[in-house]
Amino acid sequence: MKKTTDVAVVGGGLGGLAVAALLARGGRRVTLFEKSKQLGGRAHTTEVEGYHFNLGPHALYQGGPAVRVLGRLGVPMPGRIPRGEGSFALRRGRLHTLPAGTVSLLTTDLLRAAGKLEFGRVMTSVMRVDASRLEGTSLREWLNAHVSRTEVREVMAAFFRVSTYCADAEALGADAALSQFQRARKGVRYLDGGWSGLVKALAAAASGAGVEVETSAKVESLEWDERGERPRVRGLRLADGTEYEVGVVVVAGAPRDVAALVPGDAVLAGWAEDAVPVKAASLDVGLSRLPRPRTLFTLGMDRPWYASVHSEWARLAPEGGSVVHVAKYLGAGEAEASEQELEEVLDLVQPGWREHVVTRRFLPGLTVMNALPTKKKGLKGRPGPEVAHLGGLYVVGDWVGPEGMLADASLASAESVARLLSREVGARAA
Ligand SMILES: Cc1cc2nc3c(=O)[nH]c(=O)nc-3n(C[C@H](O)[C@H](O)[C@H](O)COP(=O)(O)OP(=O)(O)OC[C@H]3O[C@@H](n4cnc5c(N)ncnc54)[C@H](O)[C@@H]3O)c2cc1C
Repeated sequence: MKKTTDVAVVGGGLGGLAVAALLARGGRRVTLFEKSKQLGGRAHTTEVEGYHFNLGPHALYQGGPAVRVLGRLGVPMPGRIPRGEGSFALRRGRLHTLPAGTVSLLTTDLLRAAGKLEFGRVMTSVMRVDASRLEGTSLREWLNAHVSRTEVREVMAAFFRVSTYCADAEALGADAALSQFQRARKGVRYLDGGWSGLVKALAAAASGAGVEVETSAKVESLEWDERGERPRVRGLRLADGTEYEVGVVVVAGAPRDVAALVPGDAVLAGWAEDAVPVKAASLDVGLSRLPRPRTLFTLGMDRPWYASVHSEWARLAPEGGSVVHVAKYLGAGEAEASEQELEEVLDLVQPGWREHVVTRRFLPGLTVMNALPTKKKGLKGRPGPEVAHLGGLYVVGDWVGPEGMLADASLASAESVARLLSREVGARAA
């Protein structure tokens, strides 16, 4: 016999958990299916001997929709906001003070006097740009048009890279890049215990609102009612053969996960084909002691590197120990980086680190974002959250809807789906 639910949410990452909790609070009967044994998706944190590793460096953007939606759901976000001290620029193997504020801009030898003036001017003016009007322009084109000195362009590109995670300034839309940069300037928060704290709190919010959570439950196919003007979803089938009757399905996975559930659908196949994933490599290291305790953050200028001592700002390591993330933002067509390359960055930043390693992990090619917001389509051209040609089908994720990037987009799209569905209930009741 088929089981029944009002809404099936496919995927138990941050986006899926948030949409499930919001819908259940709105009075829907919701079942969430996650194919892995555990919830959390890419917000998973691994703990080894008291060292907490997120899946590469993770920071919550202070002024973004993720904080808004998590706050709405009562999710605590303990941790701290780095203020910029101990920050360096790495250029051609040498460390320079990173111009993160007025004093560091005046004192750094990264830029010459004229470069400093231009950098200060661009950093101020970029905050006033209406980013939504930059559709059709790439970040590279915007930089070329607004920054005259090569040395300043290089520094600005590095700041855009760390804000957006995208190393491909030719492909990245300036609308997405500038709005994300503006958000990042408001500060980011590193979380005590890692992002799994968000997952636990969201799972508790979802269960508390009545969501049935099924792990190790892969949704394999959807069933359709073909009688109306457009097909309407009416059921789903799990990999173990269990069947559900459903009114609405929200897929909170990657574009290819959505396409796999509706084989032969050209629109969904097109979304999956168009999606250019944003990738990064990460060397995550737990040290008993930091060789250079005043070097807390390093940003590559001529190479797309990043190194940050997250444990300086959040409880992620035992007393006296440190968690350091070294990452490489992978460029167009680059699927992986080598471990040696990231070790060499750490040799420059924290010489002697190998003697203090308690635990370490290398992840050569992580998917940071399922789809880069392109110059051609921009944020406004991203798919969903409603799948217009298939009744009852919605999508949630970091590739969906017009608002934000990374987890901000996942949670903003979760909120949009909850809003759309509450309107639908209202319309039916009227
Ligand atoms: C290295 C790295 C650094 C990052 N840094 C940041 C950062 O600093 N700031 C930030 O905001 N974001 C960051 N992110 C991105 C952030 O982790 C993601 O945006 C967020 O976790 C995505 O959540 P999600 O729920 O949309 O997707 P996911 O976490 O990918 O969850 C999707 C889930 O759906 C499940 N699923 C798929 N298909 C099915 C199916 N058929 N049946 C059942 N389950 C299914 C998957 O198993 C998965 O658990 C980073 C990511 C990485 C990898």
